[in-house]
Amino acid sequence: MSVKDIITVPNETLKKISEPIEKIGINEKNLIKDLFETMYHSNGIGLAAVQVGILKRVLVIDVSTKNEKKTPLSFINPVIRKLSDETSIYEEGCLSIPDTFIEIERPKICEVDYIDENGENKNLKCDGLLSTCLQHEINHLDGKLIIDQLSKLKRDFIIKKISKNKKNPDRIIV
Ligand code: ZN
Repeated sequence: MSVKDIITVPNETLKKISEPIEKIGINEKNLIKDLFETMYHSNGIGLAAVQVGILKRVLVIDVSTKNEKKTPLSFINPVIRKLSDETSIYEEGCLSIPDTFIEIERPKICEVDYIDENGENKNLKCDGLLSTCLQHEINHLDGKLIIDQLSKLKRDFIIKKISKNKKNPDRIIV
């Protein structure tokens, strides 16, 4: 298994819609292992397959804190069934949008149907950080990012800043 490179904005793949998984075989199980490894390596609490450039509807989450026992959760083909009217606000970051935090208001409670890595149908109702993280990651599967709700001006500013900080090879004119 390996730690994968995480793609960042403005990579166009992040805007694409991921495809459902039809069968869970060795490749899918390995993909989930890689996602966990990559997420833990990057100190993230959630990661969707699209963030390592794979357009499949899979995501992993672990919202446990450093001193707690790990609680890895993987979701295949997750579908949101219910969202509460009550909302909560978190300052969200994203491994695909480095050094950027945005206050986002989302439904406080969400209920999802999904398939686990053993191919079993599951349902989960959650709130708090897990609910927010799950909604953030499911947004990734639909090509949606936390900067989408900002004005174009602000969005362009963030993308410009991130692109600038990337190490580019020296440009030469010959
Ligand atoms: Zn994200």
